[in-house]
Amino acid sequence: MHATLLHGPRDIRLEQVPDAELLEPTDAIVKVVAACVCGSDLWPYRGVKETTEPTRIGHELVGIVEEVGSAVRGVRPGQFVIAPFVYSDGDCVHCRNKIHTSCVNGGVFGAGKARSGRPVDGCQAEYVTIPQADGTLVGLDETPDDRLVPSLLTLSDVMATGHHAAVSARVVAGSTVAVVGDGAVGLSGVLAARRLGAERIVAFSRHADRQALAREFGATDVVETRGRDGAKELVELLGGIGADAVLECVGTEESMAQALAATRPGGMVGYVGVPHGEDGLPLQRMFGKNVGVAGGVAPARAYIPELLTDVLDGTIDPGRVFDREFALADVADAYTAMDERTAIKSLLRP
Ligand SMILES: [Zn+2]
Repeated sequence: MHATLLHGPRDIRLEQVPDAELLEPTDAIVKVVAACVCGSDLWPYRGVKETTEPTRIGHELVGIVEEVGSAVRGVRPGQFVIAPFVYSDGDCVHCRNKIHTSCVNGGVFGAGKARSGRPVDGCQAEYVTIPQADGTLVGLDETPDDRLVPSLLTLSDVMATGHHAAVSARVVAGSTVAVVGDGAVGLSGVLAARRLGAERIVAFSRHADRQALAREFGATDVVETRGRDGAKELVELLGGIGADAVLECVGTEESMAQALAATRPGGMVGYVGVPHGEDGLPLQRMFGKNVGVAGGVAPARAYIPELLTDVLDGTIDPGRVFDREFALADVADAYTAMDERTAIKSLLRP
C-alpha cells in the first residue's frame, strides 16, 4: 500500500509502505475514501516543527471498514465511517466527560508513536489502522452519496473544530459573533455560529474568495483590517460595544490580542488555533472587561453525531471549504497549494 511520509522541510512523498495490519483486538483497518491536508500539517511541512525521521502524516479521513479486530463490536467491514483526528476508547472518565482528546488510551493520527509505543498511521494513505475502533469511529447506516464525502470529511477536524470555537465562545441564538481567521477552521466557525443561531457574524478576511465563502456560510459583515485596528473597526461596526462571542481560529499572539480587543465587556473568546507563542494572556485587561477565554483542542468525537445529522439532511454543507482536489499520488502538489495559499483546503482521493 501507499502512504504519505514527511522527510523534512517541503519534502513530502507518497511511498510504498508495509500493508496496514491489526495490531490489537480493538483495531480496525479502514480503506480511505478521502483524506486531506490540514493547516496544522504545514507547521512540520515548513520545518517550523522539526522532522527527525520520515514520518507518516495526516489526521483526517473518511473511509470504508476493511477488517476489524476480534474485540470490535461497533463497526463492521463494508461500513462507511468517519474518524476524528484523535482516537479514543469512548469509555474512560475523560471520554465520558466528552473530552475525548484527553482519553487515557487515546492519541493523534499522523503524529508518530502512541504513548504505549505502538505505531500509529497517518491518514494521507490508502489504508489506515484505527486504534480503539469502537470508541473512535462513527459509522453511517448507509454508504452516503459521493457528493457528501467532502462535508463528511470536515467532521474529522475543521467543522468540529469551528463548532468547538463557537460552543466555547458561548454562541447562542441572537449572539453577535466575530471570527478571527479565514482558513478552513475560521470559515467552519462562521458556519457553526450561524447553525447555533447567531444573528450577526463578522468575518475578518482580506481574501475575496474566502470572504465570499464566509458570506455563503452566514457572515453578515466582513472586516478586512487586521490586528487591533481591525478590532477597533469591528467594535465601531457593532455600535461601539464589541462582539458577544469571538472565535479565535489562528493561534498567534496577534490573533488572540485581536480577538480579546474585539470582545464586548462580559463577552467570551473561544479559541481553537493551536497556540504558537507563549507570552500568556493579558489578565489585567481581561479583568477590567470581564472577558473570558475558553477552548482548546476540539473533542471532535463528541460533536460528530449532532453535526452528522445536519450534514446528512443538507442543513449544512461544510465541504465547501475544499476548493482543490488531488489524487493521493499528487500529495506534494496538495501541500504546495496549501503552503502557497492557492487552496483553502486540499482534498485527497486515493
Ligand atoms: Zn477515553
